[in-house]
Amino acid sequence: MIRVEDLSFRYSSGAFRLRVPQLSLTEGERLAIVGPSGSGKTTLLNLIAGILTPETGCIEVAGTNVSGLPNAARRRFRASHIGFVFQDFALLDYLTARQNILYPYRITPALKLDSAARGRAEALAEASGIGDKLDRHPEALSQGEQQRVAICRALVTQPKLILSDEATGNLDPESKGRILDLLFEQAATAGTTVLAVTHDHELLPRFERVIDFAQYREVAEV
Ligand code: ADP
Ligand code: MG
Repeated sequence: MIRVEDLSFRYSSGAFRLRVPQLSLTEGERLAIVGPSGSGKTTLLNLIAGILTPETGCIEVAGTNVSGLPNAARRRFRASHIGFVFQDFALLDYLTARQNILYPYRITPALKLDSAARGRAEALAEASGIGDKLDRHPEALSQGEQQRVAICRALVTQPKLILSDEATGNLDPESKGRILDLLFEQAATAGTTVLAVTHDHELLPRFERVIDFAQYREVAEV
């Protein structure tokens, strides 16, 4: 599902350099990434999602060389294949929770907003404990509730790959468990691959594999 080879990346500003010699995930696999703050975990997720492009190396998702696609095609590919839970949620404040969850359907013509999709949005919201808050705007939701909206948005399209960046960071222990149940339930039924960055060490036993990202850190010598 994911194949990364000889990846190297640097931001145009700053000395940070990320190198990942090899990383692969099979379909349906659940991999957790841990590692110190600033070690490049978010950067890697952004590279896999095609939000950033590598300097050198290859990133393949579901058989497609993501970094080789032109910008518009890369955005389309991301919207239809990848569910991304951003570390900062990235909710739109002028949309309600329901509209935020269904946002992928607004921006991706290939995705049909039908009653099944609306039903999934309701069911996901219900299962994650925000079923009664769907008509609120983000400003009227707590951090944990906003985070759940972001997670529902990542799941609603039933993507083949879910990238999750500290998705349980703002939740209490019980909600963390419930959110992970949701994620993994979907993964099991749809064969979804899950790549999750997490600081929650108590959640690690629920993943099949854990990678410590400290090994990939390499700050360019100036
Ligand atoms: P993590 O998610 O592991 O905390 P990040 O991937 O967010 O780490 O960041 C890795 C490094 O890249 C950090 O040193 C950070 O300051 C730097 N960095 C992140 N985003 C940018 C950016 N847009 N421009 C320049 N440097 C950045
Ligand atoms: Mg991060």
